[in-house]
Amino acid sequence: MKRAKLSQTGTGKETKDPVNPLEGVWMLPGFGNTGVVETSEGIVLVDVPGYRWVGRMMEMLRKNLKGPVHTIFLTHGHLDHALTLDTVFEEAAEKGFPGPRVIAQRNLVKRFNRYRLLAGYHDHINRIQFAVPSGVPAFPLPGRYPDVTFDQSISLSVGGLDFHAYYAPGETDDGLWVWVPEKRTVFAGDLIVVGMPNVGNPFKVQRFALDWAEGLESIAAKEPEVLIPGHGPVTQGKEKIRDQLLTISKSLRYLHEEVVQRLNAGMWYEDILHEVDLPEDLKKSEHLAPIYGCPKFVVHGILRQYTGWYDGNPSNLFPPKKKDIQREILTLAGKEAILKKASELKEKGQTAMALQFVDMALTGENTEDEKKQLHRLKGELLGIMGDQEPSYIARNIFYNGHNEEMRLAGEEK
Ligand SMILES: [Zn+2]
Repeated sequence: MKRAKLSQTGTGKETKDPVNPLEGVWMLPGFGNTGVVETSEGIVLVDVPGYRWVGRMMEMLRKNLKGPVHTIFLTHGHLDHALTLDTVFEEAAEKGFPGPRVIAQRNLVKRFNRYRLLAGYHDHINRIQFAVPSGVPAFPLPGRYPDVTFDQSISLSVGGLDFHAYYAPGETDDGLWVWVPEKRTVFAGDLIVVGMPNVGNPFKVQRFALDWAEGLESIAAKEPEVLIPGHGPVTQGKEKIRDQLLTISKSLRYLHEEVVQRLNAGMWYEDILHEVDLPEDLKKSEHLAPIYGCPKFVVHGILRQYTGWYDGNPSNLFPPKKKDIQREILTLAGKEAILKKASELKEKGQTAMALQFVDMALTGENTEDEKKQLHRLKGELLGIMGDQEPSYIARNIFYNGHNEEMRLAGEEK
């Protein structure tokens, strides 16, 4: 019996202690982090936990702090940052506290509406992206909407502390970051994730590489001494933070410039995609490790932002279905030759190319046994791709494919 390949984000039960980088400032670590600032009027939260983490993180909050939650900033509308508001309001009602005020950039409202419109789609793609097992919900719908929205920036005072929120699209079109000058602390939301920014996520709507770089540079201009990110550990120290912010913005500006230059020179999508990559010195940076997103996804993201779907070859404007083309080639070359090629490529380690030939073989007439063999081979190849893949998202796509192919091959999960 083969074990299913999974690369999960966690179950919410992992114990990670809250981080308290300076008096009155906390970070509750989950899959997405929740920022906490203590004021004399109540608690200010930056984001709410992901739905699988919320119980554990509220416990963490209450172990350290009493009093009502006064204000919640939502750095963006993603499920790991904004969809458990109801839990915080339920807690307030139980304790007899007034409900908090929720602040977001105005595009978050449109995002929540879109999530409701495309609930089935998001359940489907998030199940793959986050390796959510069947039976466990993959996409809770937004319940509560924000009370206050703004366009470019908003400033307010809670319990004697000033909070400034600035609009910064990047991972989303509703992104914001929060600056607390008295604490020299910035809550960066997903402008800082672990490793390479997740621009060009294969499943998701447009993200914004150049705006992302500009957002990071605006944060650097404040010269923060504590940076609480949307994901990953707290960074402390002016110089360290500056280096982190500007290394990431440099990489995004580099990829953006390389793509734009080539578009202006008349090059098309596929050639640009295969040509553009980060230079070696940036690739080695700890801040740009391709562990969630990766440079190829970023290039896709920039190309999608600026171009249409036409690939520059008129043969592909109204082409036949890919499967029909593959079947024609299979008929011409014969199944034996195609399979021989697939296994040669597999032996040579050219896994991605080998997959193309297995797909070709799958379009032909096959007996039940032959079909199972082909699915097993495809499953093995996808397993190899997944094992070698550093990007969490790409790995889960390969592993999900592996599991599906092994199921079709009749292997038990
Ligand atoms: Zn996030």
